[in-house]
Amino acid sequence: MLKIAVYGKGGIGKSTVTSNLAAAFASMGKKVIQIGCDPKADSTINLLGGTTPIPVMNYMREYDEDPETIEDISKVGYGGVLCIETGGPTPGLGCAGRGIIATFSLLEDLELFEIHQPDVVLYDVLGDVVCGGFAAPIREGYASKVLIVTSGEKMALYAANNINNAVKNFEDRSYAKVYGIVLNHRNVENETEKVTEFADSVGLPIVGEVPRSDEITRCEDRGMTVVEGEPESPAAQAFLNLAKELLENAQDTAEEDVW
Ligand code: ATP
Ligand code: MG
Repeated sequence: MLKIAVYGKGGIGKSTVTSNLAAAFASMGKKVIQIGCDPKADSTINLLGGTTPIPVMNYMREYDEDPETIEDISKVGYGGVLCIETGGPTPGLGCAGRGIIATFSLLEDLELFEIHQPDVVLYDVLGDVVCGGFAAPIREGYASKVLIVTSGEKMALYAANNINNAVKNFEDRSYAKVYGIVLNHRNVENETEKVTEFADSVGLPIVGEVPRSDEITRCEDRGMTVVEGEPESPAAQAFLNLAKELLENAQDTAEEDVW
């Protein structure tokens, strides 16, 4: 089983990386669940032709009760990926982190993992927040590996460093570990050098490298991942290669494989 959380600065490409990885795993025949953990609730939009499932927090608010089945709060997207969005509180009211935690406990009550038996679970986690909600997806039973998405931009690297430190603070047997960095190119000057220098300084590998790509934008306009819409493009190949690398090297051992 692969259980991966994707972190990074706001707007850096977390949802793009997560949904393209989901599509890549699905195209390799894997059963995938993607859980967007962001009040914007747009993580899975490119797996669903430009739509999203009703976010769990919105469901609870609108119907004033918990959903009874996973089907109430999920949609099946490209390649059979089961798409879920935590959503969040009414903007300005309440804590996004609490929404994530409430959603996770609900998904547990609904026996999401027992019923769906996924090969891969991906969590797309809101950017710069370091609170209980930040840690929820990397606690025992959820993600076991973290990918940090960054470009060579200073603030993206700054956020990547904060995330790495935060994950390390939580790091013990029951929490996730940082698996590596995904360099999502913005084409800033000396970008590869800057990110490599950062990666070396914190002792992390760069496990994936995504080119700045018009294909990603074009596919997004059609509500698609690039893996679905332009699978031969260099960007799609980058995601497929990263998915392959993760399947080969980032699986949990049977001992770690607990919910
Ligand atoms: P947020 O923190 O708001 O959730 P995010 O980190 O999830 O943002 P995305 O929504 O994935 O970021 O990406 C932001 C925008 O940048 C999107 O329009 C996406 O298509 C675009 N984008 C991301 N990566 C690339 C790339 N490699 N080439 C071209 N466009 C990209
Ligand atoms: Mg996002």
